[in-house]
Amino acid sequence: MPLIIVTGFPTSGKTTRAKQLYSFLEERISAPTSTSTSPSTPATTTTATPPKYRLHLISDQTLSIPRSVYDLSSTPAHARSANASEKDARASIYGAVKRALSDRDIVVLDGLNYIKGWRYQLFCESKAVRTPSCVLQIGCDRERAKAVNEERLRRRRDGVGAWSGNENGEETNGLKQEDEDGDIEGPYEPANWENLVFRYEEPNPMTRWDSPLFTLIWEDDEARARQVFESMWDTIAGEARKVVRPNQATVQRSRDAGGDYLYILDKETQEIVKRILDQQSDDGGDEISISRGSGGDADELVVELPAGKKIGLPQLQRLRRAYMGLHRGGIGLEGVGNMGPERIRETFVGYLNDAFEKDG
Ligand code: ADP
Ligand code: MG
Repeated sequence: MPLIIVTGFPTSGKTTRAKQLYSFLEERISAPTSTSTSPSTPATTTTATPPKYRLHLISDQTLSIPRSVYDLSSTPAHARSANASEKDARASIYGAVKRALSDRDIVVLDGLNYIKGWRYQLFCESKAVRTPSCVLQIGCDRERAKAVNEERLRRRRDGVGAWSGNENGEETNGLKQEDEDGDIEGPYEPANWENLVFRYEEPNPMTRWDSPLFTLIWEDDEARARQVFESMWDTIAGEARKVVRPNQATVQRSRDAGGDYLYILDKETQEIVKRILDQQSDDGGDEISISRGSGGDADELVVELPAGKKIGLPQLQRLRRAYMGLHRGGIGLEGVGNMGPERIRETFVGYLNDAFEKDG
């Protein structure tokens, strides 16, 4: 697998579900593979075969990232666009995922994961190690999620539940609030909470990086949760799981461009769009070769167009804009913001091939 990206509003029940999923997977991994999921076959009858997967749970809590990193109001105005603390947090989450993820390691990433460009980068990362990814969205209406946060704020204020720490997860009276599972969960400051909901970018199952998309809502009971976890297991870890081919383009990224990055991004992608429009035939299904750089043609890239239809300018421009949106940078990951012209051509060709493959 296997990267499972949990996403949802703040205080919407993500950690609760991530833990349920973790226990489900723990059980599922140790269960004998040949016998089915029948509950009458206890997992303890398994013998010597080592489990196929290792399991990891990564979250802000496991990495000691305080909630305040998401708080724009605590950041000085001049630094807000850079939002350094959140970028640092993202870089450390990214590093942790990258270290753990492999074809044999299942990573449950519990967190807000609210930026689509960020989910896209995680998708590319798992593709690069040839392992599937999926998104688990926690659906919870705004008012309910807000009430959970307000309850936590109230408890902090009143010292009920012995909690009087601050948003940084630091204790101020020597006592920690623990929930039923013994975890320390502080509230978000109200403005921070509102802002995160405002900034939330809903997953879109039509995109490759948000699919397959699974959803659990607050009201879903344990049986329903199990069903969803089972189908997650089947699509991304089970026997029927799809083979993941890495894109050349996503395997490595480099940081070799100068200052006019956006200009280069625009120019290189325009050129490729133009080349496709010029070269394709009326019947579709063409393989359009594209040179990697202004220099030679020895090292060519190939766009495989879907058979049976011609690709129009509007569709190509839509894909180009979507690609540009994801590669404009600004989410603080090494290499994401600054590709050289060759890397841009490679990644854009990879992006187009993925998109056409998904459509076709
Ligand atoms: P998040 O990780 O999104 O901040 P949590 O999982 O910590 O949210 O949940 C917030 C609170 O809501 C916790 O006290 C938890 O026990 C409770 N909670 C979460 N999901 C549910 C649910 N489906 N039904 C009832 N209570 C829930
Ligand atoms: Mg949580």
